[in-house]
Amino acid sequence: MQTLGNFISGQSVASDSGRFSAVYNPATGEQTKQVGLSSADETRAAIASAQEAFKTWSKVTPLNRARVMFKFKALLEQHADELAELITSEHGKVFSDAKGELTRGLEVVEFACGIPHLQKGEHSLNVGRGVDSMSLMQPLGVCAGIAPFNFPAMVPMWMFPVAIACGNTFVMKPSEKDPSTPLRLAELLKEAGLPDGVFNVVNGDKESVDVLLTDERVQAVSFVGSTPIAEYIYSTASAHGKRVQALGGAKNHMVVMPDADPEQVVGSLMGAAYGSAGERCMAISVAVCVGDEVADKLISRMSEEIDQMRVGPGMGLAEEAHMGPVISKEHAAKVKAYITSGIEQGAALIRDGREFVYAGHENGYFVGPTLFDHVKPGMRVYNEEIFGPVLCVVRVNSYAEAVALINAHEYGNGTAIFTRDGDTARQFCEEIQVGMVGVNVPIPVPMAFHSFGGWKRSLFGPLHMHGPDGVRFYTRMKTITARWPTGLRAGAEFSMPTMK
Ligand code: NAD
Repeated sequence: MQTLGNFISGQSVASDSGRFSAVYNPATGEQTKQVGLSSADETRAAIASAQEAFKTWSKVTPLNRARVMFKFKALLEQHADELAELITSEHGKVFSDAKGELTRGLEVVEFACGIPHLQKGEHSLNVGRGVDSMSLMQPLGVCAGIAPFNFPAMVPMWMFPVAIACGNTFVMKPSEKDPSTPLRLAELLKEAGLPDGVFNVVNGDKESVDVLLTDERVQAVSFVGSTPIAEYIYSTASAHGKRVQALGGAKNHMVVMPDADPEQVVGSLMGAAYGSAGERCMAISVAVCVGDEVADKLISRMSEEIDQMRVGPGMGLAEEAHMGPVISKEHAAKVKAYITSGIEQGAALIRDGREFVYAGHENGYFVGPTLFDHVKPGMRVYNEEIFGPVLCVVRVNSYAEAVALINAHEYGNGTAIFTRDGDTARQFCEEIQVGMVGVNVPIPVPMAFHSFGGWKRSLFGPLHMHGPDGVRFYTRMKTITARWPTGLRAGAEFSMPTMK
């Protein structure tokens, strides 16, 4: 069986901690690999490598850092199928969805290619007579990233392309459940010309994470994962003087107004609720129907659509499945326990995925698409993040009730409203307390050149990921005020000047 280690100073290195975590193929339930769980010392070795590399990488011109990103982008395109297969084999999501995830990550690389423009800073001529001011956006040093299992390529790529393009060096700690893709990305970065030590991968668990949060050489920590861990990351790393962005869990509501196009609603909701088996931080897990008529129609059409869904392995089928398995045996059991709790707490179970089995893959971690009606606040299926293919329908009587419901929820990652009325949509955008809002768009994930982040207990820290906030997060500003009593003169240059 393959044993995965770390990637430090441009080399694959075996972990010597003696502790391992099993990596499974969720479609079959078979263990395919194991990954070493790095010791504190191994993690410190990665930080030391990044610290050393910072001395030279931070001096490389933005233009040349961008050129590495351009080559990396080309390699990602060249290896897209291979990477997507790797994602599907460890995460379970269907192949086309894995390629979609890669594309969303690649878009951040494309954004990072613009770093010479993005890192220009500011300049004011004559802030006083003969006095100029300029603000530099300088890199921080060693930055760390800690990723969840659900986007093994995209979430790391929310972080490191921007960090590295800004002149920082990086230590990535992937999820121990699907660690192969970040290791492959490290190899591709090296092939793209990234100097050794600029990007390092340390696999592990709390032991290595705690080093990243407390070691004084680490300047900034980016985290994506569940809320309890996000809160721990934020408080611990902040207490150790680091800047932190820690993105947490979600419970995303979609409001369906009576004037919404019913077929558009059903099509959007099916993909948003059940795509990637509901294991997306922007998945819609609650549909808020304004009026019983809207709810009755939705429940009836969704039931029909669910009965047509293809659930199966993410690869190898003649016709691709709509949805694959969930990540692990434990997670499948947890999702099923939530479904049982929903029944016990009085929700109406319309479709039940607990007994779903894919013939020939009896040990796979499948949970079928599940639909609840008459869900109410206070029920666990409403209050908590299930992170599985379970959609809850909540019935309300008015738009105002829908808004109050969403604003009262502890999470505020994403939300959407479906309506034909521009006035209602506009009001919703203004008063909803959620970080990312869709108007007739079910999963409003911001593009790479905007920034991604939720509100309330979905994000700890002031700055969102990638886009302009990403550049702000990975740079610190220095403002210089200068006066020159005499001019400096350079010697003559006769050839066309180019920047090196
Ligand atoms: P998780 O919180 O269990 O793990 C995330 C990372 O933290 C992993 O690398 C893990 O090894 C590490 N970790 C786990 N326990 C730790 C501990 N006690 N101390 C230190 N580190 C620890 O999350 P997950 O199950 O991998 O991912 C699913 C969660 O991520 C969901 O809650 C989902 O909503 C969230 N998520 C959020 C976003 C977002 O943008 N807000 C995006 C993707 C996923």
